[in-house]
Amino acid sequence: MKRDEKIFELIDKERQRQMNGIELIASENFVSPQVLEAMGSVLTNKYAEGLPGARYYGGCQVVDQSESLAIERLKELFDAEWANVQPHSGAQANMAVLMTVLNPGDTFLGLDLAHGGHLSHGSPVNSSGLLYNPVAYGVKEDTGLVDYDMMEELAIKHKPKLIIGGASAYSRDWDYERMRAIADKVGALLMIDMAHPAGLIAAGLLKNPVKYAHIVTSTTHKTLRGPRGGIILMGKDFDNPFGKTTKKGEIRKMSSLLDSAVFPGIQGGPLEHVIAAKAVSFYEALQPEYKAYQKQVQRNAAEMARLLTEKGYKIISGGTDNHSMLVDLRTKFPDLTGKKAENSLVAADITANKNMVPFDDRSPFQTSGIRLGTPAITTRGLKEEHIAPIVDFIDRVLSNPDDEKVISEVHHEVNAMMKNFPLFAQ
Ligand code: PLP
Repeated sequence: MKRDEKIFELIDKERQRQMNGIELIASENFVSPQVLEAMGSVLTNKYAEGLPGARYYGGCQVVDQSESLAIERLKELFDAEWANVQPHSGAQANMAVLMTVLNPGDTFLGLDLAHGGHLSHGSPVNSSGLLYNPVAYGVKEDTGLVDYDMMEELAIKHKPKLIIGGASAYSRDWDYERMRAIADKVGALLMIDMAHPAGLIAAGLLKNPVKYAHIVTSTTHKTLRGPRGGIILMGKDFDNPFGKTTKKGEIRKMSSLLDSAVFPGIQGGPLEHVIAAKAVSFYEALQPEYKAYQKQVQRNAAEMARLLTEKGYKIISGGTDNHSMLVDLRTKFPDLTGKKAENSLVAADITANKNMVPFDDRSPFQTSGIRLGTPAITTRGLKEEHIAPIVDFIDRVLSNPDDEKVISEVHHEVNAMMKNFPLFAQ
C-alpha cells in the first residue's frame, strides 16, 4: 500500500514544532525513544479484554507478561499493594473510581476547577458533575493554599462518600494526613489524583499519597514521563471489605471492584502497546538517574518562579514545591488576558496555556493567568542557568503582546537556543 504522505508530513511538522520551541505546558513532557518504540509496536494488534491470566481472548500469553511487568513495576515505584494499568487516560481512571465508590446522585468533595481542580473532579460538563453531586472546596484568597478548614466544614455539613484531592494547577504539596483524618471523621473515602506531581512523588521528592489515601489515580504522561494514559493504585486499604456485596452474599474487595469498573465498566480492550510503554517508563523511573531528573525539574521550577517574582509577576501561593506555577497576570498587566498571553507566547514559539486563577474575574475562555511548568524543558537538558533567558523571553513578549517585531525577535532567539538541546538526547 502507498505510504500516507499527508499524515507523516504532519507528524514531521509536529516533531519540528516540538524540537524548535520552548515547551512550558506543565502537563506535557517528552518520552524516551524506547517508550515511543513500545507505543508504536505490534502490541497494538492484540485484543486482551480482562486481566493478566484471566482474559476473554486467546493468544494473550505474551501481553499477560508485559502487563504484569507494568503492574509490578508500578507497585514498586509507589510502594503500592495493588494497581491497575489499563485506564486509557487520567479522566478514565477517575471515572472508574467514582463509578466504584459512588451511586448516581451521591455527594463528593473536589477542588474547585477555578482554583486549580480538574474537570473530572466535579465539573458540571464532565460525567463526575453530571452523574454525581459535587461540592467544591477552594484555596484561601490571601495565601493561595488549599483551605483544609473549609474542606472539613464542608465534609461535616455534606457528609460526602468521597473526598478528592489533587489538582491541575496547584504548585504546593498536599496535607494528605489531614485529608485522611477529615475523610475518616465523616466516614468518607479519600482519593488522591496525583497526575501532575506523580514523577516527583516517584522520585521521593514529594509526599507519597499512596500511604494516606484509600485510592490514588494518576496519568502517566506528565511529570512521570510515560505514554499518554491512566493508572489506579491502592496502598494499605486495598484489602478492606468496603466493597459491594455480590448476589451470592460475598463481599468483593475494593480492588476487584475497581478492576471491574475499568473493564467492563467503562472500557473495552486495554491498549497493550500503551501498557508496554507504561512498563518501560516505570522501568526508567526506577533507575537512579530519574531522581536527578526530577530534582532538576523542581529546581528549574523554583528558579522560574523566583525570577518571575523578581520581575513583578505574582505567583499564586508565592512559589512552587513542584514542577509548576500559576501566574496571576493582573498584578503586572491588568489588561492582559491569559488568552492573549498564550497566543503571543505561542507566536514566539513558547508554548504555555491560559488558566483561571483563584477568584478570577474573567471567564475560562479569557482567564487572568497562565500556567507554566518545567518537566519538558528539563527533559531537554535545561538547567537553572537556562531559566533566566526563558523568563526574559516571556517578559519581553508579555510586555509587548502586540508587537510583531519583538515577537519575531524572541522567536528567533528561542529557536537558536533550543538547537543546543536535541529532543531525543536523554
Ligand atoms: N487529573 C488531573 C489532575 C489532570 O491534570 C488531568 C489532565 O490534565 C487529568 C486528570 C486527566 O488526564 P487525561 O487528559 O489523561 O484524561
